[in-house]
Amino acid sequence: MHLRVERSESPYTGRVIINELLANNRAYVARHGHQVLPTEPQRHLAVLTCMDSRLDLFGTLGLELGEAHLIRNAGGLATDDAVRSLLLSQRLLGTRAIMVIHHTRCGLESFVEEELADAITADIGFRPPFRLGAYRDVDADVRETVAALRSSPFVDGTDVRGFVFDVDDGSLREVIPASS
Ligand code: ZN
Repeated sequence: MHLRVERSESPYTGRVIINELLANNRAYVARHGHQVLPTEPQRHLAVLTCMDSRLDLFGTLGLELGEAHLIRNAGGLATDDAVRSLLLSQRLLGTRAIMVIHHTRCGLESFVEEELADAITADIGFRPPFRLGAYRDVDADVRETVAALRSSPFVDGTDVRGFVFDVDDGSLREVIPASS
């Protein structure tokens, strides 16, 4: 399979983009003002979701600053590091409910786990020691992630619910666990 590695692109491009964002931040500071919010999320909520650029969690959920922990990785999977974040979120910062949000048209649907692992192995000379997270059925993927959190000894999984976000219309649909 073809890997999108654009090594020829100049780092100058990235520098220009980041400089634009720094200018955006200067305008943001002027709007933000000085506000000292508590470290503990005020809605006692953690959200585990994908890194996808079309998913605006603040807008979708009506969240404000200081209300929830947002834990993101490719796919919104219950990786060791996501579990680490949830453990700290619950044990140190008092969150209880967990929303798992995967979404339609995810990049993880676009490849086959073994094929991508083979292509990366061919490119860099060794196999990634972690799962890349390819899947075919988003509902099954949500159920698997919710089940992993419910059975983790590190997470209080009594209040975990799973959803699929539609990137085209912004709606959330709950995925009912197979067991209930
Ligand atoms: Zn995604």
